[in-house]
Amino acid sequence: MSESLHMLEMYEGYHEVEFTSDLCVKCNICTSACPVEPVTSLFPGPKTVGPQAQRFRMTGERGDDSPDKSVDYCSGCGVCTMVCPHGVKIMEMNTRARASLYDGKIPLRNRALGRSELMGKYGHWFAPLVNFGANIRPARIVVEKIIGIHRDAPLPVFRFQTFRDWFARHKPQAAAPVKGKVAYFHACAGNYYETEVSKAAVLVLAHNGYDVVLPKQNCCGLPMQSNGEFDAAIGYAKRNLDWLAPYAREEIPIVGASTSCTLSLKSDYREILRVEHPDRDLLARHVYDLSEFLLLLHERGELRMDFKSVDALSGTLVYHAPCQQKAHNIGQPALDLFDLIPGLQVRLSDASCCGIAGTYGYKVEKYQIGMDVGTPLFDQVRAAGTDKPVICDSETCRWQITHATGARSLHPVQILAAAYGLVTL
Ligand code: SF4
Ligand code: SF4
Repeated sequence: MSESLHMLEMYEGYHEVEFTSDLCVKCNICTSACPVEPVTSLFPGPKTVGPQAQRFRMTGERGDDSPDKSVDYCSGCGVCTMVCPHGVKIMEMNTRARASLYDGKIPLRNRALGRSELMGKYGHWFAPLVNFGANIRPARIVVEKIIGIHRDAPLPVFRFQTFRDWFARHKPQAAAPVKGKVAYFHACAGNYYETEVSKAAVLVLAHNGYDVVLPKQNCCGLPMQSNGEFDAAIGYAKRNLDWLAPYAREEIPIVGASTSCTLSLKSDYREILRVEHPDRDLLARHVYDLSEFLLLLHERGELRMDFKSVDALSGTLVYHAPCQQKAHNIGQPALDLFDLIPGLQVRLSDASCCGIAGTYGYKVEKYQIGMDVGTPLFDQVRAAGTDKPVICDSETCRWQITHATGARSLHPVQILAAAYGLVTL
């Protein structure tokens, strides 16, 4: 931590994101790391759009009015905040400034992209029809023309049976000796779209002696937050806090496989949404990314080691740690877990971002920017061989990687579940 940030901690309210703009020394490290700035002239970079513009944003209701609209081209990947040596919360201030830019007048496209849970809730009943319709080219062109979701953007695949329905019938029994309870936060994707990730997660947790419980929950709110709908996102966040806090009070870990959603619970509710709730910080202290939790078990000598090599995972696989995973500041626990699997060879991608950034790459005016941002990663995946799966912790990043390269993408826990013999790939 820089000395100046340390000193700031002594001020009441140092956590105010906008206040950190005064820490900027214009070193441009953030600009050189930003994946969006080099691929488009529409975005002048984090230093300019972040702390520099922030000085002109202190007049609005949120104190965030933006002097220029280029902030809308910030993808929210968070790389800038991670690399800034002076603790400037650039991504966070940009996200707040973008919400102020919309000033409550949220485009229909943004409202639709923010409603991944609502779409899953109603869409899963018609899964075969919806999945078929999503691949009809003329229909995608009409959707692009009317609301601005790019015709080629990688849409999720709906599952007819939700994860919660599956869990009600097939809840895995905790292996002896039982260590206690874990509350699983499946998020929207884990319940409606990639149910196989949630199944692998609860199977691995139960295999390691945990009685998995499913708390009542709704969308973490991140899709709404990213699309400028703060008031709606705060409503979702408060409900999650009401439902999850009782588990935190009982010291039950709250674990999720969707790394962006667990980051929201840990950090965004405080830093970006500023949710006023008595249990906000209590919950943040009890939330774990799934790989983080499993590595903690291993460090305590409590992770079962009955891993076997998996034929379907031969060769060297690419692992891409998504931006939101890196923002947890926990290193890459999945890599340490992969080291425990006999014969598994994994190489960490050195690309910074896949370009999708949640819902950013879905938007017609940003789709190509997202694809250009992701090119270094896609090249690495192609070089490794698209017949091999790619490993990545975030669902929209997995969809983007598969869309761009044709390679199958898997969550780290699916690799672990296969190595335990709990699932086949
Ligand atoms: S890295 Fe931090 S200190 Fe350097 S220009 Fe960017 S915001 Fe300013
Ligand atoms: S959040 Fe990502 S896209 Fe936005 S300014 Fe920072 S590094 Fe660039």
